[in-house]
Amino acid sequence: MTITPLMPVYPRCAVRPVRGEGCYLIGERGERYLDFASGIAVNLLGHGHPHLTQAIQKQAETLIHVSNLYGSPQGEHLAQRLVDSTFADTVFFTNSGAEAVECAIKTARAYHQSEGGDANRTVLITFNNAFHGRTMATISASNQEKMHKGFAPLLPGFRYVDFDDLEGAKAAIGPDVAGFLVEPVQGEGGVRPASPEFMKGLRDLCDEHDLMLVLDEVQCGVARTGTFYAYEQYGIEPDIMATAKGIGGGFPMGACLATEKAARGMVAGTHGSTYGGNPLAMAAGEAVLDVVDNPEFLAHVRTMSDRLRGALEQLIPNHDAIFDSVRGMGLMLGLKLKDKAENRAFVAHLRDHHGLLTVAAGENVVRILPPLIIEQAHVDEFIERLSAGARDFAMPVAA
Ligand code: PMP
Repeated sequence: MTITPLMPVYPRCAVRPVRGEGCYLIGERGERYLDFASGIAVNLLGHGHPHLTQAIQKQAETLIHVSNLYGSPQGEHLAQRLVDSTFADTVFFTNSGAEAVECAIKTARAYHQSEGGDANRTVLITFNNAFHGRTMATISASNQEKMHKGFAPLLPGFRYVDFDDLEGAKAAIGPDVAGFLVEPVQGEGGVRPASPEFMKGLRDLCDEHDLMLVLDEVQCGVARTGTFYAYEQYGIEPDIMATAKGIGGGFPMGACLATEKAARGMVAGTHGSTYGGNPLAMAAGEAVLDVVDNPEFLAHVRTMSDRLRGALEQLIPNHDAIFDSVRGMGLMLGLKLKDKAENRAFVAHLRDHHGLLTVAAGENVVRILPPLIIEQAHVDEFIERLSAGARDFAMPVAA
């Protein structure tokens, strides 16, 4: 393998976007792609949304960065809005999803290691096929060999059980357990929503054993599933939650949210970040919330979800050699393919021959993550291109 100036950790494809316009990306040669990947659930306002770009521009002209050693009116304001709209009492801002999960893990451990806690409780129970990020703690929390290979030793303190297996989760609880870390909808794992019984069961187990329920809503949060956060649809509240991706609409930022009780260990001097809560990021977050934390906008996401899902369900029987089923929540949808239709090859085919961007996920699933601002015309165009792609996708000849 030859080295390149950009460290070659991504198997990059031929798409080289230079510009974005709403739900479209435009490549170097002027080619247009319908973007139903949204930077992997990030660009929820599409590309070049005037409210977001103007907010960032205005803030850039006023103040780009100050140290967290000074007071932060921008951070206080956005934190207050998140507190008002969620279960949380307090917020720590980060620059990415993995850092938000890191902070969530530290918060859960610190809860037990602070006064009134049981310092033996350090282990987080996490779930097979989870994805929590690429830092050492978050790869250790994600039980995926392909993410671990070459990076040993992993961090101790994680115990893995099957996703959506409440009995398994219960059986894994011991006197060393601090809590659960779970994605309400597994994203990279294949767009798998947890069952309501599972999420409620985890909440009950946490209440019973004084454990922390830590949600990773980095991919499924911020209106993606049709509610501000996915947990709302499960009728439960977490103790701690990581959010990122959509929250900056493309500006790199994330946050760890917690209840007052859960955050009791996170006192002055225990945690920090040079850039976390930076005024520019806060301006982006405010602009995103202005649009998405709104009942009408959430209703729009649900309407578009129903239409897109309905259209996909209608399409499946017409291409039943390739398509198996559709699953997911809101505008976080997964099209499961039949075994013989390989998802990565199909995603590449849609991209290269039909100008359609989607993302492959585990379990042979094609992830459909459009900007949340899509309209009916985008749904129609997506279905048209997907259908054409299914028609001329060359499947391997059966042996
Ligand atoms: N958690 C989940 C559920 C994710 O989907 C991701 C990113 N795919 C992460 C954490 C990590 O986020 P980031 O890449 O911003 O560090």
